[in-house]
Amino acid sequence: MTTANLLDFDLDGLAAFCEQLGEKRFRATQLFRWIHQRGASDFDQMSDLAKSLRQKLKGCAEVRALTVLTEHVSADGTIKWLFDVGDGNAVETVFIPEDDRGTLCVSSQAGCAVGCRFCSTGHQGFARNLKTSEILAQLWYAEHLLRRKFGRDERVISNVVMMGMGEPLQNYNALVPALRAMLDDHGYGLSRRRVTVSTSGVVPMMDRLALDCPVAMAVSLHAPTDELRSHLVPLNRKYPIAELLDACLRYLEHAPRDFITFEYCMLDGVNDQPEHARQLIEWVQRHRGTGVPCKFNLIPFNPFPASGLLRSSNAAVQAFAALLSAAGIVTTVRKTRGDDIDAACGQLAGDVRDRTNAATRMAQKRVIELKPVSSRAAALSTGA
Ligand code: SAH
Ligand code: SF4
Repeated sequence: MTTANLLDFDLDGLAAFCEQLGEKRFRATQLFRWIHQRGASDFDQMSDLAKSLRQKLKGCAEVRALTVLTEHVSADGTIKWLFDVGDGNAVETVFIPEDDRGTLCVSSQAGCAVGCRFCSTGHQGFARNLKTSEILAQLWYAEHLLRRKFGRDERVISNVVMMGMGEPLQNYNALVPALRAMLDDHGYGLSRRRVTVSTSGVVPMMDRLALDCPVAMAVSLHAPTDELRSHLVPLNRKYPIAELLDACLRYLEHAPRDFITFEYCMLDGVNDQPEHARQLIEWVQRHRGTGVPCKFNLIPFNPFPASGLLRSSNAAVQAFAALLSAAGIVTTVRKTRGDDIDAACGQLAGDVRDRTNAATRMAQKRVIELKPVSSRAAALSTGA
């Protein structure tokens, strides 16, 4: 019999698992609370579970976390971990502390198949989907480590953004149970408004998420015309802007927030001109007559050599933001956090997939090579 990883289950999944062992649902609830609220991984710690159940669990289950390859702490308190997910693949998780919240930026895939031009993960290609346990293990580890680190009994992470490596809506079946565990009062008890899925626009899965597990939605827009967007985000050829905006409107009927966050990566001379801003305003205020209730989050591009792209000037970013704001659209410019440790972030997949070196040696190499993607992740703390 294979050993189940209990991090693979939301509460319903764990209840079904316990039922197979002849145990009642409330046992699953106790177990779920031990794992996610108390950070327990050793069944012997779980003192209010019957000894017989603990014995049974030891025979068929475990709480299997991920191995941490590196941890980097920034002067501003941002922390990044690189987790080994086997076969030479690694994923990145970033904690961004702020006065009123703690945000964790979580990865959903090793690599990404969408292949956006400005994204280093996209350039490196797709390795594989993460399992539910691998998505949840990032939160499980970070939350309980940080509680110990800060000597706190209560929750440290108040917000989760699915903005690390990968396209979460192309790993839907693993994503949804992970989201449910984040939201569950017996799990992390996070508010739906404080869990954000960021997508490059996988329209059918946006519709499914609206019904299965509506959380806050960020859509990576990046361009005001199909021609340009298809160039930057190849998935646009399948789901062009009009369809994507329709999907946003449908999503809003179920969403916990009454707006969609549009992310817009500012690329020098490519999508950052006043004309682009005007076209965007036209889209989001006129689409289907009513427009799409939204906020914009402008992300100054984090350059990397293979992209052949440059970051927009501050003046261009400010001018762009001013045009959107003047049209009545709430617009923020994402601030960069953890600059001094950016090096360890984001561009892991390709590097790791070469897998010629021991993981730790490669992690050291990455410190020099992996600059770009991190600040996009580290900076997206404006979400909730
Ligand atoms: N795949 C999802 C979520 C992960 S990417 C998505 O694309 O939405 C999270 C955000 O970082 C996206 O808005 C993405 O466009 C942005 N991003 C990717 N590479 C970047 C870079 N080099 N500089 C700035 N932002 C980047
Ligand atoms: Fe994938 Fe998002 Fe990067 Fe595009 S921006 S390649 S969807 S991770």
